Amino acid sequence: RTLYKGKQAVVLGLAKSGAAVARTLKACGAVVTVNDKKPENECEEAELLRKEGISVICGGHPDDIVNPDVDIVIKNPGIPYTVAPIQKAESLGIPVVTEVEIAYELSDAPLIGITGSNGKTTTTTLIGRMLEEGGLAPIVAGNIGTPLSEQALQAKTNQVLVAELSSFQLKGTRKFRPVIACLLNVYDAHLDYHKTKEDYVHSKSKLFMNQDESNVAVLNYDNEICRNLAEEIRSQILWFSVTEEVEQGAFLRDGAIVFKRSLSGTLADKLDKSPEEEVVVRLEELALPGAHNVENMLAAICVARASGADMEALRHVLRTFSGVEHRLEFVDEINGVKYYNDSKATNPEAASRALDSFSAPIVWIGGGLDRGIDFHELVPLLRRHVKAVITYGQTAEKLLARAEDAGIIRTKRVDTVIDAVAEAKSIAREGDIVLLSPACASWDMYKSFEERGVLFKQSVHKLKTSP
Ligand code: ADP
Repeated sequence: RTLYKGKQAVVLGLAKSGAAVARTLKACGAVVTVNDKKPENECEEAELLRKEGISVICGGHPDDIVNPDVDIVIKNPGIPYTVAPIQKAESLGIPVVTEVEIAYELSDAPLIGITGSNGKTTTTTLIGRMLEEGGLAPIVAGNIGTPLSEQALQAKTNQVLVAELSSFQLKGTRKFRPVIACLLNVYDAHLDYHKTKEDYVHSKSKLFMNQDESNVAVLNYDNEICRNLAEEIRSQILWFSVTEEVEQGAFLRDGAIVFKRSLSGTLADKLDKSPEEEVVVRLEELALPGAHNVENMLAAICVARASGADMEALRHVLRTFSGVEHRLEFVDEINGVKYYNDSKATNPEAASRALDSFSAPIVWIGGGLDRGIDFHELVPLLRRHVKAVITYGQTAEKLLARAEDAGIIRTKRVDTVIDAVAEAKSIAREGDIVLLSPACASWDMYKSFEERGVLFKQSVHKLKTSP
């Protein structure tokens, strides 16, 4: 807590996490300046922060915002490392970190970190529920909603911080060391920001960088990149796999989920009373649909068991947890057609998983921000599951081209998600699925994937009342 007492901290970016870390540092006695290039009238919290004794400078980055007297720079994960103040900090040898690093340094509670290209929120939520059910007082935070630094000072030693982490956040960490670190998968997402896949993988692997034998890493055995990372990891590894019976961790056998562990180190202390191999639940007992969610559940089982939550707590959650909003969320059934909102599918890998979750014919709605990818991986899934394609947004043309590659005849380009719902209604027949799983981020047209998903759901509900 005294680490930053009297120190000069510059926070770049006045978003939610910027405001949170500024307050946290101020509470720990630091002299804090927040700086954002947005004009004053768009910096909503500026006045409030000033009243709390934090300097706020909006409307650009002054040349001397970073100077030799500054001890630490905390940057918003979205700000590129190429901006002038960051370059200057680096040339002056001033550490540049993200707010999760500060949260980690200042918190007394142990931290569980979850990252991956897809499945983070679902898995983090599952872990939170399992720990809650197991009486372990989790605080769920990070990329999932509440900034980690907002929770850092409140968390007590007998609690546990369960943090969803993005690669952008991890890129700016230095000493960050979760007691349990979980990497779900690594796919080609976010290449526009990270430029190269190596950089993206490196950011994700920073989750394990400071771990040692007393810590646990939970890794996806079916993902080659995760498997290769294992060589560099010093912590004890629990694997999860939907294809193989792993040596230690969670896997499938005869339609059931099995958890297996071998005794060693600290992990053994947590698991000492459990049998070496145990059936967790049968697949038909799971409340959450989607094959990809089985992977998320296997990962959550490993993390929750390594945290010391008992098997009965896990079972209860697996039998009752039916999902998070905007993730393969069932909206309604109208005239025998089921509508699903998967607005959170912001990359082709996620959309592929959604398309693969249904056996009925799908009227697929997709499109959004163009990140320069070609969506070739969607073609086999479109061919297998989709009867009609409705697209909108920047990537509409590209997705129509992939639909053509897949031999789909019924295609339509529309202007908005709302129009897409009307179009889907006219195409879908009894027994079909209408699925919004855009494969793209929303920012070309909408504020967020949440806004896009809510508009979709509202339009679906309106279908019920319209003729
Ligand atoms: P994240 O927080 O990483 O974006 P979510 O749990 O919010 O992940 O899920 C986002 C979307 O990604 C889901 O709607 C689903 O289509 C897809 N998805 C979820 N889990 C997985 C997984 N394990 N593998 C691949 N795709 C997944």
